[in-house]
Amino acid sequence: MINKKTVKDIDVSHKKVLVRCDFNVPLDKNGEITSDKRIVESLKTIKYLIDNNAKVILCSHIGKTGKNISLAPVAKRLSELLNVNVPLLKDIYSDETKNVIDNLKEKEVVLLENTRMTEMEEKNDPEFAKKLASFAEIFVNDAFGTAHRAHASTEGVTHYLPSVSGFLIEKELEALDNGINNPKRPLVAIVGGSKVSSKIGVLNALLDKVDTLMIGGAMTYTFIKAQGGKIGNSLCEDDKLDIATEVVKKAKDKNVKFILPVDNVVADKLESGVKTHITKVDEIEDGYMGLDIGPETIKLFEEEINKAGTVVWNGPVGVFEIDEFANGTRKIAEFMANSNAVTIIGGGDSAAAVEKFGLEDKMSHVSTGGGASLEFMEGKKLPGIEALLDK
Ligand code: ADP
Ligand code: MG
Repeated sequence: MINKKTVKDIDVSHKKVLVRCDFNVPLDKNGEITSDKRIVESLKTIKYLIDNNAKVILCSHIGKTGKNISLAPVAKRLSELLNVNVPLLKDIYSDETKNVIDNLKEKEVVLLENTRMTEMEEKNDPEFAKKLASFAEIFVNDAFGTAHRAHASTEGVTHYLPSVSGFLIEKELEALDNGINNPKRPLVAIVGGSKVSSKIGVLNALLDKVDTLMIGGAMTYTFIKAQGGKIGNSLCEDDKLDIATEVVKKAKDKNVKFILPVDNVVADKLESGVKTHITKVDEIEDGYMGLDIGPETIKLFEEEINKAGTVVWNGPVGVFEIDEFANGTRKIAEFMANSNAVTIIGGGDSAAAVEKFGLEDKMSHVSTGGGASLEFMEGKKLPGIEALLDK
């Protein structure tokens, strides 16, 4: 169980509350927000603070350090969603910012500019953390997407303020923890994506917990090659063949039903409009690569999803970004959406796929944190959460 205090366990009324949100939203080339999911997901905590007469100071990063992307589009979208003006305070160190915050009234909301405008954020610089903390009396972390990073605005500030979680972090932890550590069985996991190397931790952790583990995506071919199959030009991590063999052995030792694809969609180029055909997964001709699961595999996966009490999915089973190779991922998403099982999606690209197919609302939980959900599933401690007050 997760035993961290939330905003409900602390008196926020009349207090200045610094809230670390995850407003790292995708922007198009015109700077327009292409998905406001993360902003929408932050509203519950912000509204609670407004309703309880707090003075609300929001902060977040957006994009990488050095890119200096402004949170201005987020301030605008937030103002629309909350129906109040949310000013963007452009310079964290300016007298003006200090002034605005000193004079903040109850129920007012302001947004500090991108915390990654300075390198001090990711370095978890104590002076920067102290500066952020100086604005407030309470810290609320609701940025699940960066909870796996010890940065000044996620972990550093907790050294200077009483710190609790917001509702989004609470929801994420509950859903992921229940799904993995207290699941309705059988617990079926689908792990795909591009690399075995980025999923070794999660594969090993899941093997201790699941009843069935199904593999898809590019990592399939590392497993198939390790078993002596012909994978043509498919992506493969030749230095991870031993690990693939170990994973298969561990599955056997743990009595986990381990399912690899049996067929796949292949093409000689990874581009839209290319001619495709179906082959067995271990009989791919030279010059071709496996880019999606095939119809027999889709059937196999469907059967397991239909039997499941819980399905945890991390990693697309094909190159879903290109229509020719999106079918497998779309089908998995549809089977999950239509099943009675508890359905949990972790992983940034998997969540993007589910969103692309418009099936988000049909899932029990779609995590807002790609890396954080992966690390949670790996059983790692998330520093942004560890640092919060215990219940
Ligand atoms: P997540 O973010 O959900 O954890 P990953 O980042 O591990 O997922 O992997 C997602 C990427 O894997 C997608 O961009 C997808 O195009 C790619 N991918 C999936 N299957 C294949 C494949 N067979 N060959 C090449 N790339 C693949
Ligand atoms: Mg990814």
